[in-house]
Amino acid sequence: MSSTKLLSSATINFMLGSFYRRGLKCQLCGTINCMRDSLLMGTDNQSAYLISKRQYKVNKPSNSQLLQESSAINQSKVQKGGSLNSIEDKNKNIGRLELVRFSSSASASSPFVGTSWKRGASTQARPKVNQVDQPNYNAHESFRCSELEIVKCSPGELRPKPPVEKLVFGHAFTDHMFRVDWDSENGWATPLISKIHNLDLHPGAKVLHYALEAFEGAKAYRGHDNKIRLFRLDQNVKRLLQSARRLSLPEFDELELIKCIHKLVQLEQEWIPNSNGRQLTSLYIRPTIMGVEPSLGVASSNKAILYVLLSPVGPYFKTGFKPVSLYADPSAVRAWPGGAGNSKLGSNYAPTIKFQKQAEKLGLQQVLWLYGEDQKLTEVGTMNIFVTYKNSETGKVHLVTPPLTDGLILPGITRASIIELARQWPDIITEERYLTIREIKQMIRSNQLLEMFGSGTACIVCPISTIQMKDGTKIDIPYFDIMKPASQEEERIIITRRILKAITDIQYGKVHHPWAQELGYC
Ligand SMILES: *Cc1c(COP(=O)(O)O)cnc(C)c1O
Repeated sequence: MSSTKLLSSATINFMLGSFYRRGLKCQLCGTINCMRDSLLMGTDNQSAYLISKRQYKVNKPSNSQLLQESSAINQSKVQKGGSLNSIEDKNKNIGRLELVRFSSSASASSPFVGTSWKRGASTQARPKVNQVDQPNYNAHESFRCSELEIVKCSPGELRPKPPVEKLVFGHAFTDHMFRVDWDSENGWATPLISKIHNLDLHPGAKVLHYALEAFEGAKAYRGHDNKIRLFRLDQNVKRLLQSARRLSLPEFDELELIKCIHKLVQLEQEWIPNSNGRQLTSLYIRPTIMGVEPSLGVASSNKAILYVLLSPVGPYFKTGFKPVSLYADPSAVRAWPGGAGNSKLGSNYAPTIKFQKQAEKLGLQQVLWLYGEDQKLTEVGTMNIFVTYKNSETGKVHLVTPPLTDGLILPGITRASIIELARQWPDIITEERYLTIREIKQMIRSNQLLEMFGSGTACIVCPISTIQMKDGTKIDIPYFDIMKPASQEEERIIITRRILKAITDIQYGKVHHPWAQELGYC
């Protein structure tokens, strides 16, 4: 055993390359080729010594203990040079030694000693994306789509699809859901698509007390060619991961969740309504992650669930793009610097409902969220806000939206898409900066203001017609009816119209663009 040395994870993965391709299943988390728990100390063609990092942390074994343990397994198998002293010197987290023996025959069934590893159950193939010599180091952090289990509803359990005209946002759900559970001991469990079901939560589950929850909203569209496309789902998954980090919830491999969502949408594609003409129907995708440990301490959760629901949605605006009226209460704050308003956390939304109700009581439709003494415009309801104005000197159209620099703004994917598109339009100047109520009033007085609109996955763009302040003062905002035919000059300056067309053309497959991914990722 004196010839064993600690190897870097890169070397381990290099050395284990051939074993990796055969697929080793971790007993802790079920992941193929997981290296979550072990460091390799030596290997030859048939076997490898692994040491458990965790056990070392607990037991702090001495050099001699390690030696004893290793010889108890099979000293002679270790080939590579170095000494245990060098391991101790490096002060790494080293634990019990385990011998893992590999066999080139898939049927050999006693190939391991120790507890952390076993041979992959069958000749389970590694997922295509990782079919390179470099294994995915983060494999241990994630569930894998290749292990996804699908338990379909019986034909009798399938529910009839509601008619498109009857769809109210978020009321109807499809037959199946995706779900994967996590706990700190075992990591991610096997991901599952099965019949939509209630969650069985302990009443002490942290999410119910401290709102340890984050969600996403993405969409799948049935294109003019009848193909199903998902719009920038990678961005939603990235944002979900960022939200999960904000809540100290477990991380996962983005691509694995994307692939699982593709599988779910594929299974449920008949639920995606047909978009005749400009009806703009779609399938809403709601990924959710939450901490469900049943304990009342304000602390990170050692249990979590991640699930995805699908909901068919009808046309957002049944009778054309009607502009909305806003209610602004300068004393109400949605987000603040250093807060979490820039993450899609459930806790950001519950306190806003009161103001939404107040708006409705006054016959207004949405809340305009202001910030600071100078009444900066930040967001509209659950949408980002944009203002366009015409520079009277240059004649150019400026597109302004608040910046993402201080955490007040939710980094909308529609917002990002609008900015990216507009940057390619030579006659538009995009600006990321705050505008105040005073500046808006000035722009109206000087006839510069063209449009104000909200942006989000739900409606893409949503024109604004009025702002009513809490003190009763009203600001009328110019707007255009997007659905009406427009003159050439109007075409140029009505940005809502241009954006709506550009984005829906991508979503419904009229224009091929990397933002719209066809189904069948894996
Ligand atoms: C979700 C959300 C948006 C819009 O984000 P998209 O990714 O464009 O749908 C904007 N503001 C808030 C507060 C949101 O929750």
